[in-house]
Amino acid sequence: NRKIVLAARPRGLPQTSDFRLEQAPLPAPGPGELLLRTEWLSLDPYMRNLMEEVGPGYADPVALGAVMVGGTVSRVLQSRHAQYKEGDLVVAGAGWQDYALSDGSGLLPAGDLAQPSLALGGLGMPGFTAYVGLLDIGAPRAGETVVVGAATGAVGAVVGQIARLKGARVVGIAGGPDKCRYAVEQLGFDACLDHRDPQLADKLAAACPDGIDVYFESVGGAVFNAVHPLLNLNARVPVCGFIAHYNDKAAPGPDRLPGWMATVLSRRIRMQGFIILDHYATRFDAFRRDMAAWVADGSIRLPEDVVPGLENAPQAFIGLLQGKNLGKLVVRVNAP
Ligand code: NDP
Repeated sequence: NRKIVLAARPRGLPQTSDFRLEQAPLPAPGPGELLLRTEWLSLDPYMRNLMEEVGPGYADPVALGAVMVGGTVSRVLQSRHAQYKEGDLVVAGAGWQDYALSDGSGLLPAGDLAQPSLALGGLGMPGFTAYVGLLDIGAPRAGETVVVGAATGAVGAVVGQIARLKGARVVGIAGGPDKCRYAVEQLGFDACLDHRDPQLADKLAAACPDGIDVYFESVGGAVFNAVHPLLNLNARVPVCGFIAHYNDKAAPGPDRLPGWMATVLSRRIRMQGFIILDHYATRFDAFRRDMAAWVADGSIRLPEDVVPGLENAPQAFIGLLQGKNLGKLVVRVNAP
């Protein structure tokens, strides 16, 4: 049983030396337990926050020497649990390892998806995040302008495509010309701009001639700075994440908060943070129904970036924090 543990707390961008690959004996399930074998592992930005000594509030930090946490699609190898049988495919939180024990809590059936890894992406947590954040908080109306950063990533790609389905004009912001071309040509965005372009603010203003009604915030940094002067009266800002700052050691630069607060006030902006874990009980069924239909009729595409081999997870995760992925980043840990 290979497992990747947290070897050291990162300073800034994680290094491969912050992780360690270990071997452990195969665990045996006790009464009421399951032995799971990981087939797919999800790599997500929140994992960076769990590497800190003090956790982000919505989940406990990973202890030094403990296995890295993560969502998985796993196969039931042995079952001493009444609800699951050998061979079942489940969505679990087995972490960065080949095998894990579970008492069945928190497991979801992975169903009979032709592409089971989608249960970690567009049909799972990131897609659900896009759905709840955009529809319940952003509430875009036809003809409005929606802006989303990390536009070709797991969440952003879905945000933009749902916004288009609702009749909004969608402007993405992504890292580099290839991703921007992908957003427009493959995902149907109306426009997409490179956040590394020094002219970002001017180009965004030109791409949003009627201002911005919904800004789906998942980046912060230069993207936020370019967006906020363009927000319209009564704009909505679902606050999903701020990945540009996850590696920050201290807040850089001048304090921009007073300027932002003045904008919130004068333009009557509604800004709401959300943690997707809170919404499963009330909204997950509606999401699965809508998203399955959109994927089936071709109105939403779910790009994936597949990395082979558990041993490559640390490098791939570091790459995620640098924008090297296009689409949902998943690791193929073990074939069925
Ligand atoms: P992505 O698949 O979008 O991957 C992360 C992307 O972030 C990178 O590919 C990169 O894209 C972009 N990025 C990284 N650094 C920067 C930077 N300095 N400036 C601008 N962009 C940057 O990840 P997810 O879709 O899984 O997550 C997107 C956001 O949503 C994150 O902030 C995450 O924490 C948040 N989230 C929040 C949840 C919640 O419950 N609130 C649940 C799930 C996700 P590019 O090359 O385009 O810059």
